[in-house]
Amino acid sequence: MADSRPYKLPLPRARGRAAEFYTFCKQHELRFQRCSDCGTWRHIPRDMCAACGSFKWEWQRSSGKGKLFSWTTASQPMMPQFADSVPYSPAIVELEEGVRIVTHG
Ligand SMILES: [Zn+2]
Repeated sequence: MADSRPYKLPLPRARGRAAEFYTFCKQHELRFQRCSDCGTWRHIPRDMCAACGSFKWEWQRSSGKGKLFSWTTASQPMMPQFADSVPYSPAIVELEEGVRIVTHG
């Protein structure tokens, strides 16, 4: 069940392909672009495949499974909106599909 409380932390400005990515996130779907020619997954969203140069792609659902790649612990808020959140640990997770995302727990 989705959390209905208003989200108070700042969100990234979503434009272009990134807006599509965040629309899936709002629907509780983790999707990334996958090249239709070579099968390479990619994130951050963009039009061209960096592996083969193809402009053919589609959004595909991620398994959501991955490994912790790196993390840090923030003990000082970098923005005033995070003052009530410290300490927190932003992390980079490498998903099974090979893409990496920033998250926090
Ligand atoms: Zn490709």
